[in-house]
Amino acid sequence: MTLNTASHYIGRFAPSPTGPLHSGSLVAALASWLDARAHGGQWLVRIEDVDRTRCLPGMDQIILRQLAAFGLHSDQPPLYQSRRPALHQRALDQLIASGHAYPCGCSRRDIELTLQRSGQVKTRHGELIYPGTCRAGLQGKSARAWRFRTGDQSLVRWQDRRLGAQAQDVSAAVGDFILKRADGCFAYQLAVVVDDADQGITDVVRGEDLADNTARQILLQRALGLPMPRYLHTPLVLGDNGEKLSKQNGALALDTRQPLAALNQAAAVLGLAPQHAAADALAHWVAQWKCLYNRAP
Ligand code: GLU
Repeated sequence: MTLNTASHYIGRFAPSPTGPLHSGSLVAALASWLDARAHGGQWLVRIEDVDRTRCLPGMDQIILRQLAAFGLHSDQPPLYQSRRPALHQRALDQLIASGHAYPCGCSRRDIELTLQRSGQVKTRHGELIYPGTCRAGLQGKSARAWRFRTGDQSLVRWQDRRLGAQAQDVSAAVGDFILKRADGCFAYQLAVVVDDADQGITDVVRGEDLADNTARQILLQRALGLPMPRYLHTPLVLGDNGEKLSKQNGALALDTRQPLAALNQAAAVLGLAPQHAAADALAHWVAQWKCLYNRAP
């Protein structure tokens, strides 16, 4: 069955409840909502709370209230990623059985030492590129985490609806990435792929900062035999220092008492014209969206 037909559309917004929405996350929320509406599709909210160490209690409700204040309502009750460990484990088991996943007994320190010894300390967004120590077996160590085995088929090409042709050799750029962490949490990459497929997501619309994860997610979709959604990565809101605005660098929470002002700001980032009346702003932007970000058949 092909899910990606023009008449069938399920999109999503998938915030992590690590802080309230800020102007950067509103751009992704608005874009994913507009894209779903422009295609006559459904828009789902998924709370990505698998990383328990980073989630704040009650933040899911704050985010849902913020979305509601902007007129963005999920078409189904929000799905909580943390409530689905059995589904995530089943996918991991499938990857283990097919030889795509292997246990890793390395601590961060082990990885640092191995990389130092080989004179190849490569980092990527602060993460060390795993040197593959446990690929051939644990060598007496006990398993801490599970990793995806990137093979020689790890050059991934895909078409982003805004960024155009994209390519990444996952093996060279990222290495064997984590699927389940030493603390027992499933990694974002695995959870997002399993949940997107389980929810029948046909179109992923999210911030450009996440574009870099797409190749890993496509490798996982292939290994699990799951359909690949279309991707559209939206422009980022930059802070005063020219860096991406994020919860981590102190982005301010949105003022929901002035929803039109915040929505106009987000719309401007997406190239949409400012609106003067909150009541029909979203409807105007849906019409504009159809011209700007039309989805190829
Ligand atoms: N939960 C991720 C975040 O808040 C987004 C995941 C996604 O859209 O794929 O950054």
